[in-house]
Amino acid sequence: MLTSTAVKQKARELGLDACGIAPAADLPELQFFTEWIRRGYAGTMSYLTRSASRRADVRNVLPSARIVIATATNYNTDRPYSTECVAPRRAHIARYAWGDDYHDVILRRLEALVTWMREVSSEPFDARPYVDTGPVQERVYAQHAGIGWIGKNTCVINPELGSWTFLGEIICSLALDVDAPAMDQCGTCTLCLEACPTHALVSPGVLDSTRCISYLTIELRDPIPEPLRAGVGAHVYGCDVCQEVCPWNAAPPSSDDSAWQPRPIWDGADLLTLAAKTDEELRDALRGSAMRRTKIGGLRRNLDVAARNAQGAFGRH
Ligand code: SF4
Ligand code: SF4
Repeated sequence: MLTSTAVKQKARELGLDACGIAPAADLPELQFFTEWIRRGYAGTMSYLTRSASRRADVRNVLPSARIVIATATNYNTDRPYSTECVAPRRAHIARYAWGDDYHDVILRRLEALVTWMREVSSEPFDARPYVDTGPVQERVYAQHAGIGWIGKNTCVINPELGSWTFLGEIICSLALDVDAPAMDQCGTCTLCLEACPTHALVSPGVLDSTRCISYLTIELRDPIPEPLRAGVGAHVYGCDVCQEVCPWNAAPPSSDDSAWQPRPIWDGADLLTLAAKTDEELRDALRGSAMRRTKIGGLRRNLDVAARNAQGAFGRH
């Protein structure tokens, strides 16, 4: 017989560090997404605008859905945070992008979980796994599955793992026991809002993507707007600042999973060294990496902005 407990245990065996089960129901937090889009905070991410009605409820994706099996997988490694780094020309790259493309790795693990569930279950069922790219508000389901609360920095924070986790979920038609939602433990802390270099966290838990360095260096296809370039600093792909300052990430566990270890080219990389790489070298490094989203042109744009920022900083000393 397939039980919630057995699913969670199997998830851990497959390399998914935390697993919980949320109901496929009218969860109040799902409502905010439409308002967030209306405020223009999605910027040029038209795929979010287009899929807003589907994202309102997983039952729009899988009408037979009764539960969402939510998972979180630790990708933290033992390297220092960007905010601890004193090397003046260090290129900052978001930790999640250092290793293999999580979409592929986590999806394979979720698919293996579904395969196992079909072997064990006495009844047929529908199941649809997603990692990040699906029309699913995965953080809301992760919270309702008890994985962690959505912090003021908009990340899901697990009390043991912190927020350095990849989320992935399986929308499923089985009626397995669901978990209690995670409780908010941010309290009176506002460190992430204060630390954001571009003031993109406009209020607790509300991100204006059009100001966020992750958006500017990854999602935006146009030149980075001039007034925001200084705030981008040395970030050449994404930004971790609002997670690095979070007390729940002060001493997070490290993963020894080979998939998430930094590729040599990004490991402690120097801005000018990276900028001097040929297109062929960068193309090789982006193969099978989550960083391929920017393509070579986007990465060069970011390197140019970051290198100019570094040179400006040198000029002031
Ligand atoms: S990722 Fe960086 S820019 Fe975006 S909200 Fe967090 S600190 Fe601000
Ligand atoms: S830095 Fe503080 S307010 Fe921000 S997510 Fe972490 S605990 Fe919450």
